Amino acid sequence: MTTQFKVGDIAIHRVVEQEAPFFPVLQFFPTLTKELFDENRSWLQPKYVDPESDKLLLCIQSYLLRTPHHNILIDSCVGNDKPRPTRPFWNMMQSDRYQKSLAATGLGVNDIDFVMCTHLHTDHVGWNTRLDNGRWVPTFPKAKYVFAERELGHWTERQKQDPASCPWVTDSVLPIVAAKREVVVKSDHTLNDQVQLIPSPGHTFDHYSVLVGKPGQDALITGDMVHSPLQMRYPELGMLSDYDSKQAGESRRRLFGRFCDTSTLLCTAHFPSPSTGRIVRFRDAFDFAPM
Ligand SMILES: [Zn+2]
Repeated sequence: MTTQFKVGDIAIHRVVEQEAPFFPVLQFFPTLTKELFDENRSWLQPKYVDPESDKLLLCIQSYLLRTPHHNILIDSCVGNDKPRPTRPFWNMMQSDRYQKSLAATGLGVNDIDFVMCTHLHTDHVGWNTRLDNGRWVPTFPKAKYVFAERELGHWTERQKQDPASCPWVTDSVLPIVAAKREVVVKSDHTLNDQVQLIPSPGHTFDHYSVLVGKPGQDALITGDMVHSPLQMRYPELGMLSDYDSKQAGESRRRLFGRFCDTSTLLCTAHFPSPSTGRIVRFRDAFDFAPM
């Protein structure tokens, strides 16, 4: 399994927490018809859809970038000890896979300068914090945590109104704010000449992707702008927890169009390993060419 590669002078590591069949495809994509699924089975199975269960195979992972200036962790997976009553496979996880995968990069929790959360869903914020004597403390003690302003505002308000609907905000986002480790930015923020946020709203209110490197030697860390190569062939296909599926489809059309048939490496959050590849033209849409 390829977990390390380079674009220009940036080393990119995948830090994997889980890889498994999770959700039935027709449940995950609520507007996907049985007919369209059947039409696409031959290429989706067995790589992207488990033939036994018809569940979507997903990887849960972070991307760790070693740039000349900073070590940047993008998204922080599910985490341990977190109550997730509506997601049995993530509830009160006790796994050492994430720590082992992080250790394999040669970096430790003290080496991370920035943690970037593309959005504030449960599988992208979990390792922001860890349990320490009954309190949630930042897992990466020296890091600044980069949140999009409107995304943070949206979830902070939602947590205030209905905390039971988003326990991950309570245990993995608000403790970062309480510890004053957050950096709140616009979703088109430029960190430096090699790291830039690209707005990709729709899946959540103020979702961002991250473009790293220099023209000709760059990578787009997508976050959940896309969940499956099926959404590259059918960009308008929404998924079950989208905030606004129409807007998410527009973000996919715009970003896939921008990087289609270029050398830009697409680094997806959830495609099965190797998770990375290039965007190519397919009919009136796009396709994924794995690395
Ligand atoms: Zn996700």
